[in-house]
Amino acid sequence: MRKPLLLALLLLLVALFFFFDLGDWFTLEALKQQQAHIATLRAESPWLIAGGFFVLYVLMAALSLPGAAIMTLAAGAFFGVWQGLVLVSFASSIGATLAFLVSRFLLRDQVQQRFGDKLKAMNKGMNRDGAFYLFTLRLVPVFPFFIINLLMGLTALPARTFYWVSQLGMLPGTLVYVNAGTQLAAINSLSGILSPALLASFALLGLFPLLARAVLRLVQRRKVYRGFNKPRHFDCNLIVIGAGAAGLVSSYIAAAVKAKVTLIEAGKMGGDCLNTGCVPSKALIRSAKLAHQMRHAAHYGLTSTTPKFSFKHVMQRVQAVIRKIEPHDSVERYTKLGVDVLQGHGKLIDPWTVEVTLTNGTTQRLTARSIIIAAGASAAVPPITGLDEVNYLTSDTLWDTMAERDTPPKRLLVMGGGPIGCELAQTFARLGSEVTLLQRNPRLMPKEDSEVSEWVKSALTKDGVRVLTEHSPLRVEQGRDGIRVIATHQDQEIILECDDLLLALGRKARLQGYGLEALGVTTERTVTTNEYLETLYPNIYAAGDVAGPYQFTHTAAHMAWFASVNALFGHFKRFSVDYSVIPWCTFVDPEVARVGLSEQEAKAQHIAYEVTRFELDELDRAITDGSDQGFIKVLTAPGKDTILGVTIVGEHAGDLLAEYVLAMKHKLGLNKILGTIHVYPTLAEANKYVAGEWKRAHAPERLLSWLSRYHRWRLGKR
Ligand SMILES: Cc1cc2nc3c(=O)[nH]c(=O)nc-3n(C[C@H](O)[C@H](O)[C@H](O)COP(=O)(O)OP(=O)(O)OC[C@H]3O[C@@H](n4cnc5c(N)ncnc54)[C@H](O)[C@@H]3O)c2cc1C
Repeated sequence: MRKPLLLALLLLLVALFFFFDLGDWFTLEALKQQQAHIATLRAESPWLIAGGFFVLYVLMAALSLPGAAIMTLAAGAFFGVWQGLVLVSFASSIGATLAFLVSRFLLRDQVQQRFGDKLKAMNKGMNRDGAFYLFTLRLVPVFPFFIINLLMGLTALPARTFYWVSQLGMLPGTLVYVNAGTQLAAINSLSGILSPALLASFALLGLFPLLARAVLRLVQRRKVYRGFNKPRHFDCNLIVIGAGAAGLVSSYIAAAVKAKVTLIEAGKMGGDCLNTGCVPSKALIRSAKLAHQMRHAAHYGLTSTTPKFSFKHVMQRVQAVIRKIEPHDSVERYTKLGVDVLQGHGKLIDPWTVEVTLTNGTTQRLTARSIIIAAGASAAVPPITGLDEVNYLTSDTLWDTMAERDTPPKRLLVMGGGPIGCELAQTFARLGSEVTLLQRNPRLMPKEDSEVSEWVKSALTKDGVRVLTEHSPLRVEQGRDGIRVIATHQDQEIILECDDLLLALGRKARLQGYGLEALGVTTERTVTTNEYLETLYPNIYAAGDVAGPYQFTHTAAHMAWFASVNALFGHFKRFSVDYSVIPWCTFVDPEVARVGLSEQEAKAQHIAYEVTRFELDELDRAITDGSDQGFIKVLTAPGKDTILGVTIVGEHAGDLLAEYVLAMKHKLGLNKILGTIHVYPTLAEANKYVAGEWKRAHAPERLLSWLSRYHRWRLGKR
C-alpha cells in the first residue's frame, strides 16, 4: 500500500474514534458499568469474547489510541489474572509492533534523511544497546506506551527485537494491571494502581540490564589482563611506538601536560610523511609543475621551452626539502620538549612493558601505564604472479632508488589509480616519462564523484599519461627490454612494457613484528580499536595509519590527541574520536579537495541534499592566473544553508577547502560565508561566490515580487 493511502486510512480511523466519542467506552466508570454485562456475554460465548477483546486490544495499540491501561484492567476483570495476562501480553506486543512498523514505514526514511547526521550517534547507540534501552522503557510503566512504539519505529532497531523485548519488558507491569483489574470495584483511579515503591522497583529492574552490562564489561576488561603481572611502579606514564605524525603528536601532547613519555622510533623520525610520503611527493610535484609551466609558458606570453634538467638535481632538491623540514620532527626538538626519544625497535612484551632494541644492538625494557601504537602503514604489495621476480618500486622505495638516477624513468607504469598513483603518474609525465596508469576500477579516484574522476583523467591525459581503466594486472615478467605487465581488459590479455613499475595500490597497516600477535591484540586490516582508540587492552591505544580508518597525516595527528588524552586522563574522562568533519586533498593539478559528503555518498546513504556550484572560469583571480579550470560543488541540506559536503577541483583546492572545514566544524552555514569579506582578487572569493549562488537559488521570490511592485510605485508611473 502506498504511504499516503495508508496514512489517510489511519487518520480516518483515529478521527472516527474521536468523532464518535469512542473514548468514553474506555474509562474506569464505563468499565465498571459494563462488567456484569460482559460477564454474562462471556459465560455464553467465552472464545468469541476473548477473541473480540484480543482483536480490539491489538487495534487500539496499533492505532495508538488511548485506553490501553483500561483495557488491561478490563482483561483482569473479565478473564482473571492468568488468561487476562496471556491475552494482554500478546495483544499489546502485537499491537505495539504494528504501530512500530507503521511509524517505520511512514516516517523513518524522512526522519533519517532529514536528521541523518544528527542521528548517527543515536543509531550507533541503538544498534549496540537498543534492546537494553527498550527493555528499560518497557519495564517502567510510566513511559507512554504509544510514544515508545512510534519513536522506536524511527530507529534502526530490528522489528523482531522490538517484539520480544516489548513482550518481556511489559510483562511485570501488565501483571500488576491485570491483577488490579480482578479487584475492579476497589479501584477509583488509574494512578492509584502503581505505588511509588512499585514504580521504584520497576525502575531498578529496568536499570538492572544496563548495570549488568557495565559489570560484564568490567569483568571482560579484567579478563584480558589475567595471567599478566601488572608492575607496581612504572618507568613512564606513556610509551609511544613510532615517531610519525601520530606518534610525534601523541608524545608532544604528553610532554606538554608534564607526563613522563618515551617515544620509540625504529626508522627515521617523522615517519612516512616526512621521509617517503607527503613531503617528498609534494616537493617533486612542485618541480614537475614548474617543468609543465615552462612547456606552456606561451600561455603567459613568454616563450614555451622544453625544460632541461638533471633528474639527480631534482631529487636532490627533494632531499633538501626533507632536510629543511626534518628539524621539526627531530630527536633534538622532541628531547627539548621533554620527550625521551629512543631510536630503536619497540616490541610489546606485556600490556605495560615494551622492549626496545636500540640501534646499537642493546636492548632495554621499559614499563608504562599506557602505550600508544603509532606504527603507521607501508605500501601494499598484492600477490601478483611474477612480482617478486622484478625490481618493482613503491612509494616507500621510490625515493632512495631514484635518488642517484640522472634521468627520470623512460617508460613508467603506475599500478593503481588512487590519490598516490594519480599524483605520481602526473608528476613523472610532466618530468618527461612516458607514463601508463593502470587502474582496475572503471574510474580513477573512485571515492570521489564520477565528474571528479573525469576531471582527473582528462588532466592526466592532457599531460600525456596513458590512462587504462578497467585493466586488471594478471602477471608480471622480466623481459629483455624491461618489465612486462600482462593485464586483462574485457577478457582480452594485453601486454604493457615499461622500464620501471611503480605500485600504488594502497597502504597496509603495520601489524607484525612488534608483539601484537603474541599479546593477542585484535586486528583486521588495521589494529581494532573502540571509539576511544583503546585496543583489546584498555591501556594500549592505537592512532594514525595503523588504526585507520583514514590514512592522512592530519587524521593521524587528530587521532593522536584522542589517544594521548584518553591514555593519560581516561580514568577521569574519555573522549570518543570524532570523524565528523574530515578533509583531504589529492595534489594532482588541478587539485581535488573534499570535506564531508560527496554526491555519490549522499545518494548511497539516502541523505537528501541540494547542490550549488560555482565554476572557476568565472573567478577573476583564477582568470588572471591562467588557472580557471575547475569548480566548487557544495552539498547543503534541502532548503537550508547547512553544509553537508564540499568538493573543490582547482588550483589550491586544498587551501580553499579550509573555510568549509571551519564552517562545518563550527556549524556555520553558507549565509555566514556570504556575509564574510574576502579579499579581492583571491581564489578564496570563489567560496563567497558559491554561497552567493546558493542565496540566489533560495531568494524569497514573493518578497522580491512585492519589492519590484514597490519600486515601480516609487517611480511614480502607473
Ligand atoms: C606517497 C605518499 C604521499 C602522501 N601524501 C599525503 C598528503 O599529501 N597528505 C596527507 O595527509 N597524507 C599523505 N600521505 C599519508 C601520510 O604519509 C600518512 O597518513 C602518515 O604518514 C601517517 O602517519 P603515522 O604516524 O600513522 O604513520 P607513519 O608516518 O608511517 O609513522 C610510523 C612510524 O612508526 C615506526 N615504527 C613502526 N613500527 C615500529 C616499531 N616496532 N618500533 C619503533 N618504531 C616503529 C616507523 O618506522 C614509522 O616511522 C601520503 C603517503 C604517501 C605514501
